[in-house]
Amino acid sequence: MDEIHITGLEVYAHHGVFPEETRLGQKFVVDARLALSLREAGQIDDLTKSVNYGEVSHFITAFLTEHTYQLIEAAAEQLARALLLKYELAETVTLTLHKPEAPIGLPIADVAVRITRGWHEAYIAFGSNMGDRRAYIEQGIRELGEQQDCRVLAISDYIETEPYGGVEQDDFLNGCLKLQTLLTPQELLERLHEIEAHAGRTRDVHWGPRTLDLDILLYDDLVYASEHLTIPHIDMQNRMFVLEPLAQIAPYVYHPVLHRSVRELKEALER
Ligand code: ADP
Ligand code: MG
Repeated sequence: MDEIHITGLEVYAHHGVFPEETRLGQKFVVDARLALSLREAGQIDDLTKSVNYGEVSHFITAFLTEHTYQLIEAAAEQLARALLLKYELAETVTLTLHKPEAPIGLPIADVAVRITRGWHEAYIAFGSNMGDRRAYIEQGIRELGEQQDCRVLAISDYIETEPYGGVEQDDFLNGCLKLQTLLTPQELLERLHEIEAHAGRTRDVHWGPRTLDLDILLYDDLVYASEHLTIPHIDMQNRMFVLEPLAQIAPYVYHPVLHRSVRELKEALER
């Protein structure tokens, strides 16, 4: 991925744990790298296809001057988020925030934190089989799209499906959506659980009736398993009600464990 580098931007600001630091302020130095494609800007020589590094530098200076954090970790975290929300072309931001005059009582040359943050691509399955199913799903998708750190990029058709997993219950309405998010997988799962709760979801019967179910199918090409979260979703390859809508919006997306595209997984299950 192409990058824009800003190196050694000096900012006088007021971050620190000690009261003198927030009162008197000190020098901070920022290195910023924005990853984005520069191909089109380079080919047609047009700034609107890139990110203006002058503007970014002024944005960083204003942000660090106008806010006060105890930790450079927090200053870097919030600044990276603000940059990613403001400069839509930037896919990732790497920030190094130096505090060369940190008051530690020893002759150090520099102390710094470096973080990389960025947009991730996730696919979410949604389903409902209680009450006004369509309304619960639409409310959930709207709420997801209203989160600052989430962008809903594509939504499949809603398909009518019979229940799965052996519990006697009403038919489901199912579908999938494509999401861009700044959240980690664990944060995303928590956010989905909150949205399920707002739709009145209770967890009584495993695989039982629900107003709204939101599952993470894929997250970039991540392979991850813990007690509370498995990515890719452990059973997606066996569920036509997932593969059919997912194939509508992501036929060529690759399953990082099974090494098959969504379309191939769907065709394999049809056989
Ligand atoms: P299901 O979605 O299997 O019908 P639930 O919605 O009740 O059932 O989910 C049960 C638990 O599955 C959740 O509390 C969550 O911790 C866990 N889980 C594991 N992997 C995932 C995933 N990829 N997406 C959503 N939930 C997951
Ligand atoms: Mg679920």
